[in-house]
Amino acid sequence: MRAAEKIIGRFAPTPTKFLHAGNIFCALISYLAAKSKGGKFLIRIEDLDKARCPDVSAKETLAALEFLGIVSDEEPIYQSRRTEAYERALDILSKRASLYPCFCTRAQLHAAEAPRLSDGVVVYDGACRNLSREEIARRTLERKPCLRVCVPDRTVNFRDGILGGYSQNLASSCGDFIVRRSDGVFAYQLAVVVDDGECGVTQVVRGSDLLSSTPRQIWLQRLLGYARPEYYHIPLMCDADGRKLGKSEGDDARRLFDRFTPNEILGGLAFAAGLLPELRTASLDELVRTFDFDKIRRDKIFLPEQFSYDLQ
Ligand code: GLU
Repeated sequence: MRAAEKIIGRFAPTPTKFLHAGNIFCALISYLAAKSKGGKFLIRIEDLDKARCPDVSAKETLAALEFLGIVSDEEPIYQSRRTEAYERALDILSKRASLYPCFCTRAQLHAAEAPRLSDGVVVYDGACRNLSREEIARRTLERKPCLRVCVPDRTVNFRDGILGGYSQNLASSCGDFIVRRSDGVFAYQLAVVVDDGECGVTQVVRGSDLLSSTPRQIWLQRLLGYARPEYYHIPLMCDADGRKLGKSEGDDARRLFDRFTPNEILGGLAFAAGLLPELRTASLDELVRTFDFDKIRRDKIFLPEQFSYDLQ
């Protein structure tokens, strides 16, 4: 990135349900990281899978963030409305890399101790890479395939602003990955690259569970002609027992909004992150003024005790 270039950061929630405290934490750090450098902050609703992302969750997500003062500098983008952009990207991709239909079932992929990446994706063994035309035609009658992109035997290296150097060989540690699912929904990996690229995002702050996705995204960025943003993968928030918070685990931050003021929530999260030396209330403006990536804890970040979901 050139020194004079304005930072453009973003927060990209998947609104399956209401946010948990870790999601709010991530939104806060993304916001502070952009605003503390005089940059722009964007919110993107990652509702590619409409069946899993009801409109009401996106609305509640935006309202909750707004309650804290975390608002997008531009109208939020909804991935569910960007099909044409992803189709165009897929078209370009098909000219610069090879794409192929894959008929493997979930059960087949998850069978036999298949290695997995930190984002839960199974490393694909290329079983459908060389199917003949006849075989593809025959199998298409039986089930709809997903579309995979063939990855080269190449190692992608990058320096994460929090976690340091990271390398991944695409062929051996990741395998050919999905760019469009069998139900026609575009894959996260493709959509995130297109949207970050087209919005000129220069700084990606997100949970460390997505670290292993980044080499795939960097490779796609190169193929599609987008600039590479800087990456900051922050620790995931855990409860007092060290369990990572998760929407599917029933963690729901709604009660925080009923019981605490914005500055109590902001102060609690900033203290948990290491951004404040003591537990107290804090305004968003104060946190913007004092933000420093170096202060963020590198190990585990615990949900502040007063925000614990168990408390009645
Ligand atoms: N939508 C993803 C999530 O909610 C985040 C994607 C990203 O920040 O790249 O986990």
